[in-house]
Amino acid sequence: MIQVKNLSKSFDNIHAVKSINFSIQKGEVFGLLGPNGAGKSTTINMMSTILKSDEGSIFIDGNDLNNNQNHCKQLIGVVPQEIALYDEFSAYDNLMFWGSLYKVPIKKLRQRIANLLDLIGLSERKNDLIKTFSGGMKRRVNIAAALLHDPKILFMDEPTVGVDPQSRNRIFEIIETLNKQGITIVYTTHYMEEVERLCDRIAIIDAGEIVAQGTQVELQKRSDVKEAVEISFNSINTLQKEKLQELLNMNINSNSNTIIIECDINKELSKIITACNTCALEIEDLQLKKVNLEAIFLSLTGKQLRD
Ligand code: ADP
Repeated sequence: MIQVKNLSKSFDNIHAVKSINFSIQKGEVFGLLGPNGAGKSTTINMMSTILKSDEGSIFIDGNDLNNNQNHCKQLIGVVPQEIALYDEFSAYDNLMFWGSLYKVPIKKLRQRIANLLDLIGLSERKNDLIKTFSGGMKRRVNIAAALLHDPKILFMDEPTVGVDPQSRNRIFEIIETLNKQGITIVYTTHYMEEVERLCDRIAIIDAGEIVAQGTQVELQKRSDVKEAVEISFNSINTLQKEKLQELLNMNINSNSNTIIIECDINKELSKIITACNTCALEIEDLQLKKVNLEAIFLSLTGKQLRD
């Protein structure tokens, strides 16, 4: 559905995006995950015609964005980071205004607005002024505004920033519903939990470069990060550690009364607990160290996602 080839962009002496490549399949939710300043907005802005690239090409549904910009604009909807609504207009009038900019015929537009207000759960507030809406409600109207012309692809740049948890969940549900309807979604965020919940495939971006891409399972396999369990005991002596090592034959690291064992949690946890009992070790605390995107990002870049 989308191909990005050798895409680059600089601002004066800041090389914001450095010759990146990726493809997005029809119908998937594709996440661009990276810390602040990684180049996510610059990338999505180039893909959604807001910014012009310095080098490289973008193909939308087989069309070269540079040569077919008007046609491509019909295929895409854009939810920008900034709220693009008029405070003194009602939600309905804001959507009418955006729909007329897209030249949606009036009868179709009315129907579309009704459907979208229903989707974002704001039908009953449609005549209220935007200035009376919470941040999360404004974001939902912003999403509806991007969908008025019935695009095949929706670009969303950090749509949950500054949004309360309840609205955040509503936004996730909206995305899931849209995706079920067949819309391809490109989503940028620095929250790994959002990517883990929503995205079929992910590109991890850092300092303008894509450091890894694939499904979550593919990224896990590619990284050096291993699952582990961390267990704290009342006490553990050298003899007990040796016995445990002998029973389990696994990679065990210890630090005073705590041990960390690299293992396949699903398959090996019960064996580990049995071995602890056999060694007369009293477990005080047990924590599962699953391989998440945060850990993968750290192993790939040496940085925390939220630096
Ligand atoms: P992200 O969306 O991942 O937070 P951005 O794409 O916004 O990252 O920014 C990437 C880099 O480009 C940052 O160093 C940022 O300061 C810089 N940058 C982005 N937009 C501009 C601009 N209009 N002028 C100058 N520098 C910019």
